[in-house]
Amino acid sequence: MNCPRCKKPDTSVIDSRVTDEGRAIRRRRECEKCEHRFTTFERQELSSFIVVKRDGTREPYTREKLERGIWLACTKRPVTQDQIDKLLTKLEEKWTASRGEVESMTLGTDVMKELKKIDKVAYIRFASVHREFKDVEEFKEELGKLFH
Ligand SMILES: [Zn+2]
Repeated sequence: MNCPRCKKPDTSVIDSRVTDEGRAIRRRRECEKCEHRFTTFERQELSSFIVVKRDGTREPYTREKLERGIWLACTKRPVTQDQIDKLLTKLEEKWTASRGEVESMTLGTDVMKELKKIDKVAYIRFASVHREFKDVEEFKEELGKLFH
């Protein structure tokens, strides 16, 4: 594994732990040349599926992309990487089981439901960005619940 900073191939593992309920290994690595430290993940490959977007186009599902969207909603919220990992792993099992294709709307709605259990503010943010509320009234209702 090359160092992301100086590109030298000599990096050593300084810490290694199993995470995501045994589905992934997180490794802390250190470059032997510049001492830069970075993290790598080794993860079980889930049989992938296709996401059907609103405009009808299709693309392979990538966890990274969805995770980025979730983290945007979780900015400055007390949400941990572990919680997001668990959320995604749980949902990916469901989506993969559906075999073949999953609509992007379904991804959004499922993430929303799970996020709601973790952090209400992140949930509202995610929902508003993805415009998953049926109408403005529903959105206001959720906001109302949040601030009462
Ligand atoms: Zn280096």
